[in-house]
Amino acid sequence: MYLVLFGPPGAGKGTQAKRLEAAYHLVQLSTGDMLRAEVASGSTLGIKVKDIMKTGELLPDALIVDMISGRIDAADAKAGFILDGFPRTIPQARALDAMLEGKGLKLNRVIELRADDEAMVERITGRFSCVSCGANYHEKFNSTKVAGVCDACGGARFDRRADDTAETVRARLQAYHDQTAPLISYFEKKGNLLSIDGMAAIDDVTRQLREVLD
Ligand code: AMP
Repeated sequence: MYLVLFGPPGAGKGTQAKRLEAAYHLVQLSTGDMLRAEVASGSTLGIKVKDIMKTGELLPDALIVDMISGRIDAADAKAGFILDGFPRTIPQARALDAMLEGKGLKLNRVIELRADDEAMVERITGRFSCVSCGANYHEKFNSTKVAGVCDACGGARFDRRADDTAETVRARLQAYHDQTAPLISYFEKKGNLLSIDGMAAIDDVTRQLREVLD
């Protein structure tokens, strides 16, 4: 199965992609995670993108398309993947179409998680993750069962994304409305778009996604 999950920052793409990954034996391909790994490793690419990512602006299409096309070819993506955070512009969507066509693949579904801007600011500014295993949490909506201890791996070190500040979130939402939201009609025309209420509780969103995919 080949899926795209898209929606504004904070809509729950990453959280839901991880759940679908486990349930359907797919691999989550998150361009944001790949870029953060580059930044953390101090690679040439990481150094190049770090400052732009901090502003909340999108990176150049060509750079992203190059990065994802290599990743789609990797052995672990052969059985299926969930694209999270890509495509984010019309040129990226066109590049994805061409890429998949070249490999004889077709997207099964594009799923939009709909969400309100104001709620997204609250969601994003409260989130944190485990340094050891990457499990995601939120101060208010989804905290660890024991304060300071990761439910998944018992780790005690947590981190926040450098771009999860209130002002950067506004810039990221703006980029979403200007550059990514036009993809809704792009995918509607192709006939494989489904829209789900991303404002619902995490488990309800997962249930809706599984109903659609089963
Ligand atoms: P995300 O984790 O998906 O919110 O992405 C974090 C940041 O990485 C974004 O604000 C952009 O600066 C950059 N980024 C991630 N994916 C893309 C993409 N498909 N196109 C352009 N920039 C991206």
